Amino acid sequence: MSPIPVLVSRAMGANDPAWAEYAEAILRDAGYRSGGARRQVLDLFAEQGCALSPLAIDERLGGVGRASVYRALDQLAELGLVQRVDLGTEGAGYERLEPGGHHHHHLVCESCGCLVAFESERLERAIAAVSELSEFEVRGHDVTLRGDCARCAKEAGRSA
Ligand SMILES: [Zn+2]
Ligand SMILES: [Zn+2]
Repeated sequence: MSPIPVLVSRAMGANDPAWAEYAEAILRDAGYRSGGARRQVLDLFAEQGCALSPLAIDERLGGVGRASVYRALDQLAELGLVQRVDLGTEGAGYERLEPGGHHHHHLVCESCGCLVAFESERLERAIAAVSELSEFEVRGHDVTLRGDCARCAKEAGRSA
């Protein structure tokens, strides 16, 4: 059996000031004025390379209000700057999209809610092949693997 080339991504927590500049330029071109909650949400994504739940965003921003966070996320998603991702039992999260299309996917633990990012060239090639064979105009994809992390699986085994 050949080893599956999976790289556990280092994207989590990756600070990227260039992303903030890129995102601002897109917002400016779309006619949005800089400032307010949207700007704060954007700055947060520039510092964070992986998914955040709307609740976590609201908390990190010190309570700008859930409605403002959702509005900002909707606008950023519409402009292709962030995308919705499945966080398992935690619900939906959002994470930034890179201008070059580089991205990662997730493993989610349904017991403790921990999130691990991974990248796989082989998975990307398989998805590209399916896209090509389909009659769909495929614009994107997200992949979330759900289950128990090693620690939770071990604990469940012990208590059983
Ligand atoms: Zn992520
Ligand atoms: Zn992918």
